[in-house]
Amino acid sequence: MLVMKFGGSILKDSSDILEVSEYLAENVNEERIVAVVSAMKGVTDDLLMLGGLAASGKESKVMEILSKIRDRHLGICEELELNCDNVKEELRKLERVLLGITYTGEITPRLMDFISSLGENLSGEILTELLNKKKIKARFFTGGEAGIITDDFHGEANPLLMATKTYVRKKLLPIIDSMLPIVAGFSGVSQEGKITTLGRGGSDLTAVLLGSSLESREVWLWTDVDGLLTADPKIVRDARVIKQASYQEAIELAHFGAKNMHPRFLEPAITTNTPVRIRNFYNKRCQGTLISRRSVIEENVVKAVELMRNVSILTVKGTGMIGRPGTSAKLFSLLGENMLNILMISQSISESDISIVLSKKEVGKARALVETKLLGPIFREVLLDRNCAVVAAIGSGMRGTPGVAARVFRAISSKGINVKMISQGSSETNISFVVADEDGEEAVRLVHKEFNLRRNQHTDKC
Ligand code: ASP
Ligand code: MG
Repeated sequence: MLVMKFGGSILKDSSDILEVSEYLAENVNEERIVAVVSAMKGVTDDLLMLGGLAASGKESKVMEILSKIRDRHLGICEELELNCDNVKEELRKLERVLLGITYTGEITPRLMDFISSLGENLSGEILTELLNKKKIKARFFTGGEAGIITDDFHGEANPLLMATKTYVRKKLLPIIDSMLPIVAGFSGVSQEGKITTLGRGGSDLTAVLLGSSLESREVWLWTDVDGLLTADPKIVRDARVIKQASYQEAIELAHFGAKNMHPRFLEPAITTNTPVRIRNFYNKRCQGTLISRRSVIEENVVKAVELMRNVSILTVKGTGMIGRPGTSAKLFSLLGENMLNILMISQSISESDISIVLSKKEVGKARALVETKLLGPIFREVLLDRNCAVVAAIGSGMRGTPGVAARVFRAISSKGINVKMISQGSSETNISFVVADEDGEEAVRLVHKEFNLRRNQHTDKC
C-alpha cells in the first residue's frame, strides 16, 4: 500500500486536478492507494485572511474574497463538468460562519481552524467527484473522519499517535480494498470532537500519520520540485537531488527551509520506520529523495550545504565568568524568558566568553536585555557582529569520519574567507560555522565543490 499526498503547489487549476485524477486512476489498480490532498495553491492563505477580516467586521472585503474562492472552485467544477453539490455545501458553511463572525466581531482559534480546514475539503471533494465520474470508486474523508486525533492546541495541534493509529486503521482498513480514500490533509479532530489543524504545511504530516498507522510501503509527497537538494540552486547552479537521506538529515535540512516542510512531519515515520519519498509530479522519471532510517553514506559524507542569512553573533565576555557555574544558565534563561530564539552556541574552553547566534531581527533586543539585566562584575562586555550568515555542512556520514572538518575549512580558507564561529553537535551530522554575510554564498559553493556534490548532467534524471 502507498499513501500519496498531492501538495498545493501542484493543485493550481482544473488541469492539475485532472492530471492528479488520471494518475490515480492509472495506478490504483496496481497497488492500494490512500490519497491525501492539500488545499489548492493559495487557498489556505485566503481562508486565514478571511477569518481576520471577518473578525474586524470588514464585510465587503470578506464577500469579495469569498466570491474569489467560490468562483475558483465552482469554475473548476464547471470546466470538469461536475455537479459539486458537496463543494457547494462546504462553501455555504464557510459563508455562514464568516457572516456570524462579521456580526459578532469575535474569532477564536477553534473557529479559525474550522475555517482554514475547509480548503482541503474543497479540493478533496472535487477530486473525489471527478474520480467517481471516471468510474473509480473514491470516497472523501476529512482528517477527523479518517481518524486523525489531536490535542486541542488549535492552529498547531499535535496528533495523538496511539489514538490516531487505532482510529485510522478502524476507519480506512475495512474499505481500502474496495475504494480509494481521498483524505483532506491539514485537519484533524480533538478528543472533544472539534476540528483542529496541524500547522502550516500540515498535509505532509497527515500523509505520514496515515502511512505509519496503516504500515504503508512508503509515503510519497508529490510536489513541484525534484526532492531535497544538495544546496539552494539559486546559489549553486548545478546542485543535485539527494537520493537518500536519513530522518535526522532530513530534519536538519528542513530546518534550513528546504521545501517548506512542516517541522514535525517526520516524527510518526521515525517510530514505525516508514520511508517517506519527496517526488516531483512534473518529473516522474526522477525517483526523488527517499527519507528513511538508513543513513548509508551511499552518496557522500557531506550530503548538503545550507545557508542561513540575516543572523548576528552576540558575544558576552568577562573573566569573572571563568569557573563560575550557572553563568551560561543566566544568559540563556534571560533570552528564553523573553522568547528570543538561539540558533547556535559556542563557548571556548577558557570560559571567558560565550557567543550565540540569533536572527538579525532579534539581536537588538537581546543586546539591550544583556546590557540592562546582566552587565556587571561577571559579564563585563557585550559585542555584536551584525551582518553574518551561517553555513552548515550536513550528512550523517560525517559521524566518526576523520578529516571532514579539515576539508570544509581548507576549502573555505582557499579563498581567504574568515570563519567567525564554529559549532558541531556531538551527533556529528552537522558542522555549522558563521562567516560574514557577504562571504556566505561563496562559502557554500566552495564546500559544495570540495565534496563533489555537483549534478551529473549525463546520468542524473533529476
Ligand atoms: N493547506 C495547508 C497550508 O497551506 C496545509 C498544506 O498545504 O500542507 O499550510
Ligand atoms: Mg503545502
